[in-house]
Amino acid sequence: MKVLFASSEMYPYSKSGGLGDVAHSLPLALREVCEIIPITPLYRFIDRKKFGLHSLGSVYTLKMGSKTYCYELFQVKESDTLFVYNDILCETEALYGYDNDGLRFGLFSRMVAEIAKKMQVDIVHLNDWHTALTALFLKSESIKTVLTIHNLAYQGVFNRKVLKKLAIDKKYFTMENLEFYGKANFLKAGIAYSEKITTVSPSYAKEILTVRFGCGLDGFLTKHRRKLTGILNGIDTVCFDPEHDRALYANFSADHVGKKAANKKAYYKNLGVKSSKKPLFIFIGRLVEQKGISVIAASLKDLSAEPLEFVMLGEGEAKTEKKLSELSDKYGNIHYLKGYDEALSRQLYAAADFLLMPSLFEPCGLNQMIAARYGAVPIVHATGGLKDSVFEEKKKCIRGIVFESYSKKSCLHAVRRALALYGNKKACLKMAEFDMQCDVSFRKSAKAYMKLYKEMTA
Ligand code: ADP
Repeated sequence: MKVLFASSEMYPYSKSGGLGDVAHSLPLALREVCEIIPITPLYRFIDRKKFGLHSLGSVYTLKMGSKTYCYELFQVKESDTLFVYNDILCETEALYGYDNDGLRFGLFSRMVAEIAKKMQVDIVHLNDWHTALTALFLKSESIKTVLTIHNLAYQGVFNRKVLKKLAIDKKYFTMENLEFYGKANFLKAGIAYSEKITTVSPSYAKEILTVRFGCGLDGFLTKHRRKLTGILNGIDTVCFDPEHDRALYANFSADHVGKKAANKKAYYKNLGVKSSKKPLFIFIGRLVEQKGISVIAASLKDLSAEPLEFVMLGEGEAKTEKKLSELSDKYGNIHYLKGYDEALSRQLYAAADFLLMPSLFEPCGLNQMIAARYGAVPIVHATGGLKDSVFEEKKKCIRGIVFESYSKKSCLHAVRRALALYGNKKACLKMAEFDMQCDVSFRKSAKAYMKLYKEMTA
């Protein structure tokens, strides 16, 4: 079986969050069981020399309406991954956030469809709105499509004028297709035309059918619910491995979890914290409401009175960054680090005793899995993939502290429970050790995806 796996971002070439991670690690796991060809844009900021990217030789053309667009395919040595270069799609400083994003990713989706036909693949696996239109472009072909929704909050909604540029017939601009409050919704096209829809956890698959989490598409998804399943993500456990991670001050494994402490000590020294007795709590993520940022901001005053250090790493809206910076200046044990820093995030996971993840909603979440792997016990709000991956009971993977209601009170209560756990050194270490041994790899999920691919082609 031949599968083309399309994503707008792919670690280590490009990444803005979990989608980039998954687009790297899921194909890696699927490679064991089928022929899988990942495909992603070759943005200008990807270092061609560093990755050894080379052109496959031909320049292809795509006629859409009155315009002709050119694209070229690239590859990295000894890898199946395909890179698409087209100037409109790729000549940007960042991944997203441009006025012509609709055209950029509409073009990418169209190119993916063309390449799928040329390569005669059986299945195209689409990810989020950026590639969702491919399902519409392939609707009359024998190639099957599956769309994975990584976050329903992002749907790719644009002025309908973009449809003309993409040569999409007016007849598709209806409520049953991609019309959404007078605009064009790319994700809706993917939902309507894909054979299967998956989302990244079983709980989120249920939540998106409700008004509360459906982001305006709950009704539409309910109509297509027969196609929908939830498959929990995993992480690349080779890439995230505290035993070999070069970014760490000291490497450690579940057998020697005590060695983890050297990372905290080194980090505290950097931070100017003298004694490493106090527990380290961390938050890593985009500073958006989804990640529970207002609950965190509201809790900082109380947290400043607790015997802990709290480090937040992330970037987001300027006003949120400013607020966190001010509060971090005000309270000695609260530290806000602005920015996106892969190595620092790994050092933090390794140094931390606890990861705080009070997300309002969370399709899957990877941080709790990375934290578990690095022996930082997750404290999570019971929603979506957090609910499906972190448990208080002993047997299930991952063990952590789970709170039910999305509020400052519940979040603080959970932090205080973590402090009590930290007071019992042996129990705390045991939990970290247990978490480090949990299977958070993509193995189980890859099997579930393979089953789905087989159903689609049966
Ligand atoms: P998202 O909703 O942002 O996709 P996920 O939990 O699925 O959230 O994935 C987030 C990924 O991005 C994780 O690998 C996390 O460590 C990483 N990440 C998020 N923010 C930062 C940051 N500021 N610096 C480094 N890594 C980050």
